[in-house]
Amino acid sequence: MPARKDGHLPEHPECPHCGSEDTELVSAFGTVVANAQYRCEACSTPFEFMKWLDEDGKET
Ligand SMILES: [Zn+2]
Repeated sequence: MPARKDGHLPEHPECPHCGSEDTELVSAFGTVVANAQYRCEACSTPFEFMKWLDEDGKET
């Protein structure tokens, strides 16, 4: 299915803790609705990903 700009969620965002892309989506909504919760398989650390950031990290 085509990716939409709104609600865009990468399947494997880079882990902010160890830099691994061995990550998985846990919940499409984190502590705030603009975030999604992921967990890193490499370091077993949960983290949140901001939906409005692109892959290059710039706000859109
Ligand atoms: Zn990690």
